[in-house]
Amino acid sequence: MSSIAQEVARRRTFAIISHPDAGKTTLTEKLLLFSGAIQIAGSVKARKASRHAASDWMEIEKQRGISVASSVMQMEYKDCVINLLDTPGHQDFSEDTYRVLTAVDAAIMVIDAANGIEPQTIRLLQVCRARNTPIITFVNKLDREVKEPLDLLSEIESHLGMDAIPFSWPIGMGKHFGGVFDLRNDRMRLFKAGQERLDGNDEYIEGLHNPIIKEKFGSYYDKALEEIELIREATPTFDHAEFLAGKQTPVFFGSAVNNFGVQEVLDTLVEWAPKPGARQALQRTVQPEEPKFTGVVFKVQANMDPAHRDRVAFVRVSSGKFERGMRLKVSRTNKEIRPNNVVSFLSQRRELLDEAYAGDVIGIPNHGVLHLGDVLTEGENLQFTGLPFFAPELFQAVEVKDPLRSKQLRTGLTQLGEEGAIQVFRPEAAGGALLLGAVGQLQFEVVVHRLKTEYGVDAHLMPSRYTMARWFTSDNPAALRKFMTSNAQHIAYDVVDAPAFLVSSMAQLRVAEELNPDIKFHAMREHG
Ligand code: GDP
Repeated sequence: MSSIAQEVARRRTFAIISHPDAGKTTLTEKLLLFSGAIQIAGSVKARKASRHAASDWMEIEKQRGISVASSVMQMEYKDCVINLLDTPGHQDFSEDTYRVLTAVDAAIMVIDAANGIEPQTIRLLQVCRARNTPIITFVNKLDREVKEPLDLLSEIESHLGMDAIPFSWPIGMGKHFGGVFDLRNDRMRLFKAGQERLDGNDEYIEGLHNPIIKEKFGSYYDKALEEIELIREATPTFDHAEFLAGKQTPVFFGSAVNNFGVQEVLDTLVEWAPKPGARQALQRTVQPEEPKFTGVVFKVQANMDPAHRDRVAFVRVSSGKFERGMRLKVSRTNKEIRPNNVVSFLSQRRELLDEAYAGDVIGIPNHGVLHLGDVLTEGENLQFTGLPFFAPELFQAVEVKDPLRSKQLRTGLTQLGEEGAIQVFRPEAAGGALLLGAVGQLQFEVVVHRLKTEYGVDAHLMPSRYTMARWFTSDNPAALRKFMTSNAQHIAYDVVDAPAFLVSSMAQLRVAEELNPDIKFHAMREHG
C-alpha cells in the first residue's frame, strides 16, 4: 500500500447531527476526552454557552478565531485520525450546516430519548439520506424517564427509512437505569453515574440469562429480556454493506453526560464507518489514493479582521497529499495560490499543519480568492458536483438607507452571497428591490451586521410576500420562454444567474406545476 493509501485508510470524517439540547455538545466533549484532547472540550462548551442569542453570537464572531478552530476537530483514536466537523445547530442554524454534511463520510445521530426524533434532526437527516451517508444512532439520556425503547426504535425506522439495528439494549431507565445489554458480546454493562469517568473500570455481567442480572434488576430485567427476544426475531442481522449504503443504522443506548455508552459509538465509528471514498467530478471520478492533491471548498467563514475582508476557506481534501507551500490551482479562475499560512485543526498540536490527506480539512486564509464550491488541484481542471444550495424558506427585501451607498450594498451582497452567508435574488422585473433568502432567521441578522461593519452599509430589511423559491429548468426552450414571460413578476436570478420562481404558498407552486408540465422545479441547486 502506498503511504497515501495508508493515511486514507485510517481517516474517519463525520458530523454529529441532533436537535438542540439532545446532547451533541456533551457527546463531542466525551469523544474528545477519549482521544486526550481535553483542552478543546472546554472551548466546545464556551462556544455553546454563547450561542443562545444573536447578540452573543455576534460577540463570539468577534473572536472568530475560536469558532473557526472548533468547527473542525481532529483527534487520534486507536490509530485512526478522526475529523469531527461541527454542524451549527440552534438559532445559528443555516445553510452552512447542510453543506458541512456534504463533506463528511458518516454521521452520528443523537436523539434525546425523552423526545424522540425532533424537527431539526429530520431536516439534517434528509440531507444524509439524499447522499446515503451511513448513520450511527445514539439514543441519549437513559438516566431519565424517557420513551419506551421499542417505540423509539420504530420512530427511528420510520423517520430514517432504514432498518434500526440495536447493538445494545437498555435495562430500566431513569432512577432504575441499570445499564445496557451489549447484544453483540452477550454481556451487560452496568451503569455508573459520573461526569468525568473514563473507560477502564467498567463492570460487566456475562450472559443474557445470567441469574445475577435477574437478581439485581428483577422486573426491569424481565421486561428487557422480552424486548430483546422480540427485536431478535423482528430485526435483520447487521450487515456492514447495508450500513455503508445507508440502509441500516446501528443503535446504541446510553447517557452522554455520564460517559456511558459513548465509547461503543466511537469504536463502531472506527471499526465500521467508511474511510474517505471516491468523489465524482464532472470530468472524472477522483480516487482518494491518487498521488495528486485535489480538494473542494465546502464552507467559507469570515475571519478575525473584518477591515481586511479576511476569510478562511474550509477545504476538504479529496485526494493526494497536501503540503504547506505547495502550488495549487483554483479551477474556476485558473489562478494559482500558494497557501503557506494554513490553519490546522489538530487539537493536540496547535502548530501549523504540515500535511493532510483525503478526509482531512484544511483552512486557507484568503481575501476572497476562494469561493464556495471552488476546486483546488495541482493543475488539472476539475469541477466537483454535489455542493448543494437549498431553496430558501425565509425572504426579506433589502434596501440601503443612504441611496448613495447602493453600489456598496450590491458589492457587499455579492460577496456575502458568494460566501454562502445568504442567498441574493435579483428580480427580473425592473426596479424591484433585491431579495435575500435564507433557511435560518439568524442569517438575516448576521448579514445586516456584516454589511454595516465590513461594507459600511446601513441596510434596511422589509418583509417580503414570498415564502418559497424553486429553481427551474426545462428541456423545452419554447415552454421555458413562455413560462418566464407569463410569470415575469415572480422570477428572480440568484448569485450565479440561475433563474428561480418565487411564490407565497405551496398552493401557488402546485398550480404552476400543473399549468406547466414541461417545467421542472427544483428545491435544491447543485453548484456548478
Ligand atoms: P446540544 O444542544 O445537543 O449540544 O446539547 P448539550 O450537550 O448541551 O446537552 C443539553 C443538556 O442535556 C445539558 O444540560 C446536558 O447536561 C444535558 N445532558 C446531556 N447528556 C445527558 C444525559 O445523558 N443525561 C441527562 N440527564 N442529561 C444530559
